[in-house]
Amino acid sequence: MPFPPLAFVDLETTGATATADRITEVGIIEVDEDGVREWSTLVNPRTPISPFIESLTGINNAMVADAPAFEDVAADVLQRLAGRLFIAHNARFDYGFLKNEFKRAGHDFRATVLCTVKLSRKLFPQHARHNLDSLIARHSLVVSDRHRALGDARLIHQFWQQLRAGVEPGLLEATVSKLTARPSLPANLDAGVIDTLPDGPGVYLFYGENDLPLYVGKSTDIRKRVLAHFAADHATAKEMALAQQVRRIEFISTGGEVGALLKEATLVKRLQPIHNRNLRRNDDLCFWRLIELHQGEWHPQLVPASELTPLDEDLFGPFKTAREAKRVLQELARTHHLCHALLDLEKVKPGKPCFAHQVQQCKGACVGKEPVSFHSARLMAALGKLRLEPWPFAGPAWIREGDDVHLIDRWRHLGTVGGDADMHALLETTLPPFDQDSYRILLKFRDRLTPLAAGT
Ligand SMILES: [Zn+2]
Repeated sequence: MPFPPLAFVDLETTGATATADRITEVGIIEVDEDGVREWSTLVNPRTPISPFIESLTGINNAMVADAPAFEDVAADVLQRLAGRLFIAHNARFDYGFLKNEFKRAGHDFRATVLCTVKLSRKLFPQHARHNLDSLIARHSLVVSDRHRALGDARLIHQFWQQLRAGVEPGLLEATVSKLTARPSLPANLDAGVIDTLPDGPGVYLFYGENDLPLYVGKSTDIRKRVLAHFAADHATAKEMALAQQVRRIEFISTGGEVGALLKEATLVKRLQPIHNRNLRRNDDLCFWRLIELHQGEWHPQLVPASELTPLDEDLFGPFKTAREAKRVLQELARTHHLCHALLDLEKVKPGKPCFAHQVQQCKGACVGKEPVSFHSARLMAALGKLRLEPWPFAGPAWIREGDDVHLIDRWRHLGTVGGDADMHALLETTLPPFDQDSYRILLKFRDRLTPLAAGT
């Protein structure tokens, strides 16, 4: 027999979320060389079944009132599934629910899983729809007890029998083995961790030996992105080295992309993982600020980001280091024929020409040939492109993503809250220091910023 013992599984539940909703019925069809055995049981979910779910499955509160709880049937279910290929329609749903229920009951459940939606899609790519109703119509499956656990398990068993009869055996075998292949994982990583990864947005953290932070990444699909790191077929030498070092994976789910980007930027700075190439630390971050020494006469002054006050205006930057800031100013001076003496790029005695003027690179503000106010106006124009975007609101603003609300003030991420209740505490904290990653991220999503006053 080319296939291992099989278990066709279907569940009924109180809703769609594996972590919050509960199982109300389990149906299992065991198939092996001894034949076919059907089994099902109602399960008391210990939570009310909504009228909507009742209308869908026909399972109501009265029916499950005297049924066993999942923990009472867990050992039985576990025994029926042990060593079998777990086959279900949209299998991630059923597998996820069972894993969670088993976990609550103190069992660590793992199985090789075959999803018949994926199987149908691979074998019949010419069809757009692969839900159970489409399969019933397409393969003339015989329906009994639709939307009950055993009834639906019988449908996927029938579908399987039709594949065995109608699909070229080599093709069926190859397709099943492709769909059930475990992702290639680093040798030192607990394979169970992959099952815990969500397919939503957030950040993931790789740790190595002695819990050394190796890498922080973000994705709109954490699971997919993590597996991509370990996919041998498109691994670079760097990816291979990383995969060999990973011992543990952590993840943090976020409401969306903005949250993931902000969290990634924070964690990279805090943990400084050895595989994150750009350690974007803020330690030496600085700006040019223009100060007015006399009426209409402006001079650039270097300000570390840590010394900025919320009221600072006329800022240009940010620059990673003071050296970088000076290099950029020098470049501007050269292209705009500014005075090196006035910009403090060159020490010159008062009234003496700067070197740039001697080679006709400065228009002569140092020796009174150009009014300093003219020079100031040209300096401002030259710096124009580097101006820090003015904060467009009078006060804080927010971006909502799923259940998350990111609070932002003057391009600083104050924090993220799950509900309005915590918002006020965040608003009372002192303004965090300027962070160039947050600034760039928030600038990119500025259309989604909503001023607080106009919002909640
Ligand atoms: Zn000069």
